[in-house]
Amino acid sequence: GPRVVVIGAGVVGAALADELTQRGWTDVTVVDAGPIPHTGGSTTHAPGLVFQASPSRMMTELATYTVEKLASLASDDGPCFLQVGGLEVATSPDRLADLHRRAGWLTASGVEARVLTAVECVELHDLLDPTLVLGGLFTPTDGLAKAVRAVDAQTRRAEQHGATLRPGTEVTDVLVADGRVTGVATTGGEIPADIVVCCAGIWGQKVAGMVGLTLPLTPLEHQLVRTTAVPAQAGQVEEALRPILRHQGEDLYYRDDFDHQVVGSYAHRPIPVAVEDFDDWGRPGDAQGMPSVRPFTPDDFEGPWKDSQILLPALADTQVEWGINGMFSFTTDGGPLIGESPDVAGFWVAEAVWVTHSAGVGRAVAELLVDGVPTTDVHEAALDRFERHQVGPAYVLERDQQNFVEVYDLLHPLQPMESPRPLRLPPFHQRQGELGGYFLEANGWERPQWYDANVGLLETYDVAVPGDWAARYWSPIAGAEARATRERVAMYDMTALKRIEVVGRGATAFLQALVTGNVAASVGSVTYCLMLDPRGRIRSDVTVARLSAAPGQQRYQIGANGNLDLAYLQALAPADVFVHDVTAGTCCIGLWGPAARDLVQSVSTDDFSNAGVKYFRAVEAHVGMVPVTAMRLSYVGELGWELYTTADLGMKLWDTLWRAGQDHGVLAGGRAAFNSLRLEKGYRSFGADMTWDHDPYEAGVGFAVKMAKDDFVGKAALADLDPGAVAKKLVCLTSTDPLAVVMGKEPVLADGAPVGYVTSAAWGHTVGRAIAYAWVPAAFAAPGTEVEIGYFDQRLPYVVTEEPLFDPAMTRLRG
Ligand code: FAD
Repeated sequence: GPRVVVIGAGVVGAALADELTQRGWTDVTVVDAGPIPHTGGSTTHAPGLVFQASPSRMMTELATYTVEKLASLASDDGPCFLQVGGLEVATSPDRLADLHRRAGWLTASGVEARVLTAVECVELHDLLDPTLVLGGLFTPTDGLAKAVRAVDAQTRRAEQHGATLRPGTEVTDVLVADGRVTGVATTGGEIPADIVVCCAGIWGQKVAGMVGLTLPLTPLEHQLVRTTAVPAQAGQVEEALRPILRHQGEDLYYRDDFDHQVVGSYAHRPIPVAVEDFDDWGRPGDAQGMPSVRPFTPDDFEGPWKDSQILLPALADTQVEWGINGMFSFTTDGGPLIGESPDVAGFWVAEAVWVTHSAGVGRAVAELLVDGVPTTDVHEAALDRFERHQVGPAYVLERDQQNFVEVYDLLHPLQPMESPRPLRLPPFHQRQGELGGYFLEANGWERPQWYDANVGLLETYDVAVPGDWAARYWSPIAGAEARATRERVAMYDMTALKRIEVVGRGATAFLQALVTGNVAASVGSVTYCLMLDPRGRIRSDVTVARLSAAPGQQRYQIGANGNLDLAYLQALAPADVFVHDVTAGTCCIGLWGPAARDLVQSVSTDDFSNAGVKYFRAVEAHVGMVPVTAMRLSYVGELGWELYTTADLGMKLWDTLWRAGQDHGVLAGGRAAFNSLRLEKGYRSFGADMTWDHDPYEAGVGFAVKMAKDDFVGKAALADLDPGAVAKKLVCLTSTDPLAVVMGKEPVLADGAPVGYVTSAAWGHTVGRAIAYAWVPAAFAAPGTEVEIGYFDQRLPYVVTEEPLFDPAMTRLRG
């Protein structure tokens, strides 16, 4: 294998070194400025609580692997994992309800979990006040990672497989030649390398800065306290008997430490620390001298200490014995940062990773390096997932502090970030506001979920109202908008979707080699394609419009899924292809509904008839005075066009359509209506319904794969698959009960046992049924199969249903 330098021997660097050497890459040097394994980084003083529950399947999977791995490891000092279980308690009805939702996430990921009564909680954790606790979520496989032992065990095993450890060695520079890393300069001399991985924890900014890379992370202080001996624990010789404990309502957590309790608190003001303010690696053996520890600020712990004594009355007999303000990294969306620098080949990062996810991340990075594809779908952790505005210092500082504040908050899946808002505005934002748009936020864009101006539609349409949780960030108006779209014509703001232009002499050959469809058809063709990874799994889905075939100026517009696609295309583009993001400089209105043709034709001299623009064709045209690229496609399954123009003319486009539309019953439709309509048509959304975990046949998008075409990434892997013999499948589940509307991520049960999970869900206002798309094993995929969805403390009956539910003959779209 190549020569690898891992910067940092915290729990992340240690895991990576072990995973690399396990895969046969043995020329690995692990460099740390501090001693190994007690380096003085965040790992050295992490109390090691590992809770696997997360709304993100990725985070749970990374944690589950970490649990499995650490539970199988020991250092000379003892085991690396104490599997005491995890208990999250609720002291309010809202929290109690939410524990059921959290249990659902775990069940959906195959992790055993159950919600306990207050009495059962106290049986597991005798220090809890039985009168305060309403219930708890118990996850038996959670527990305590002994993080320093994990460093020791993994670095030593790596050493046995050939790795070199360089403790007490600070990396002072990363060496680069011709856009590639060549090694590192250290206080102990240069070390040549083909690949350098930054696992420098809170020093990540500084190390990445050595190659000019900005990491969107912020080190923040976090308080950790040890009590004096707890009388109720007198004589406890085991390090931990009680399950690790979380009191999310007050932003606190607890663990046994022999006959003491250790308390961690997020219940204080965010305290960011600049990297230049860290101490040097001085006396890492001494807690107060550790470079990643700041002096304890007792004022910040006053409230949390009172709350702790309320939850655990036994603490009334104790004092704070010692406390620290430790530091670790927060990111703008709470996810880790994994990936290669876009500018310096061979410079990788694995940053902002908790102990909880450390082994999972180590494995994923090792797999990305060695094989190119990870076992766990880590696209949510990709370094290049961010938009340009999301990596600016002011944005990062504000979001990271907000994430510290919200770390244990009970968040609704639709809940938008509070600030910075508003940030990105489509050109017709003012008009949307005048129509009473209820705005949520998508990738920084303000986007209406529905429009209050449409309230009058409720006189025409009866709308089914879902249950409490699904009715948040929702209005019956959205249902009326959905119904009216199918009968009239509606304008949908599609500006937030990523648009990429691919231009140049080599554009056709470049794209043909990456996508599953044939994009080299006539000018004006639009092709729905997948981009696959070498295993044939879906890395994205795109619509590719061929807009020019002039020899020097092949030009395509791609409707894509965020920055990941942009970064992927840019990284691979050869010298004769230019890939650029046109999203912010353009806008898009989806004009859809039976009256869409009449409306657009009334303001255009171009031919919008069926012969003029066939389904899945694009034309350059004018709407009034506005030049547009009109693409005849629709995510809502109705006749109509996506009308694209430049941002400067967006308002004019909106006004032209709106004014002319008054004779055609036009309305503005919001995202909630859109989502309901798309699910009625069975249109998949990448990231929710299908991800890097799925092949096209399982996901029901095999129609987008043209095996007769010349080679493309993933083709060879697909050739080995039998499209008719999939092991799991994305299916459409339905229920006739409006109160059965779910949100996504819930477990699917068959005969009472968990078998799958929900991806997207909504009430289908036209079909009058609750819709939930879900992944299930092939054995449960046949239409008519009865299953249940676990939703809070309920089990809702659903049935697998033939899809699409609406207009399977496509008469609406092709009309
Ligand atoms: P670190 O452990 O900081 O390792 C980075 C290493 O890089 C350091 O050893 C440093 O010396 C080295 N380094 C940096 N720059 C250089 C350089 N230029 N040259 C050489 N070496 C360099 N997580 C949980 O999952 N559960 C918990 O209960 C938990 N509790 C926590 C409590 C506290 C008080 C704190 C502070 C953190 C807690 N965390 C917890 C978070 C967790 O500790 C960290 O996210 C994790 O340890 C980070 O590991 P790392 O390997 O990335 O970083």
